Amino acid sequence: MGPRHVVSAWGKILLGRTPTLSIEITRECPLRCPGCYAYGDEHLGGGVTLRDVSDFRGQALVDGILSLVDRHRPLHVSLVGGEPLVRFRELDRVLPLLAARGVHTQVVTSAVRPLPLGWRDIPRLNISVSVDGLPAEHDVRRAPATYDRILKHIEGHTVTIHCTVTRQQVQRDGYLAEFIDFWSARPSVKRIWMSLYTPQVGEESAERLRHADRDRAVAELLTLRRRYPKLDIPESAIRAYARPPENPESCIFARVTKTVSADLTSAVTPCQFGGRPDCASCGCMASAALAAVGHHRLLGLVPVSAVFDASLRVGAAVNRLRRLQGASVPGRPEVDRAVGPVSPAPET
Ligand code: SF4
Ligand code: SF4
Repeated sequence: MGPRHVVSAWGKILLGRTPTLSIEITRECPLRCPGCYAYGDEHLGGGVTLRDVSDFRGQALVDGILSLVDRHRPLHVSLVGGEPLVRFRELDRVLPLLAARGVHTQVVTSAVRPLPLGWRDIPRLNISVSVDGLPAEHDVRRAPATYDRILKHIEGHTVTIHCTVTRQQVQRDGYLAEFIDFWSARPSVKRIWMSLYTPQVGEESAERLRHADRDRAVAELLTLRRRYPKLDIPESAIRAYARPPENPESCIFARVTKTVSADLTSAVTPCQFGGRPDCASCGCMASAALAAVGHHRLLGLVPVSAVFDASLRVGAAVNRLRRLQGASVPGRPEVDRAVGPVSPAPET
């Protein structure tokens, strides 16, 4: 995100709008990844899981996505799932329309099926392929989206590889280096992003990093980013992994992002993970990157996070004024209960 985007995002916040929108465009996924938060029992607050919601397809899905985007007017949209490629025909139609609206769009996929070649020419589109470690681990966790298939399916594209570092990956010396080395050498890969596994509160899983694992991952990533230019994470963001936000209210990313589930109505709160994510163990790269911006001090004095808080309050006041004047506030009521500028103190 360049300075122009920061200024645009700030303008949106002051107007009470949401700079970032994330849409779970389908409830379907052919994978069954261990630790998948999207299909967790608490992802949508309990009672209903992503597999239970009614989702859309065909023109209804295309229209639904555009309607959300037109209502919230975000700068950036993430299309996630489930597996978004299950709806590749609908994406074929909607991606050029989002680009024409000037929106930056990201499709987050396992690349379980070929990426349509026509997507190569769509401006402002980023395809982020999730890869969970080296083949020995990934192919077990993410079958049928195995390494062989991913390499075949991304041919002719330039994609982002996104890895979520789990405890298993930091147990072996040199694991992260081997991973980054492998993907750096692929011409189809323009950059590599590394998040850390984010557990739910109270979760005791094999994926969850202990404090020592996190420290080790941070130290390795700081070294590797100097060696591999495609490892595209600012040093300040890597350092921010060492001190994640304490709760959703102090997470800038959660507060500037609305996440909507596959019924295109229900809000996923407090962030894309849903449920009760353990913020103190958060490893979300977007959250870390924005936390790093928040730690920065303007003129060496005022933390950006303080300016940001004040801006959110202004945005909330603008929305209250709109309500008083009877003007429509962007978003359906259900979605507006999500975190974001409409509500300066996000629900958890
Ligand atoms: S591909 Fe994504 S949505 Fe599907 S099971 Fe894996 S983590 Fe969950
Ligand atoms: S993204 Fe923000 S709200 Fe979500 S777990 Fe991380 S710190 Fe918490």
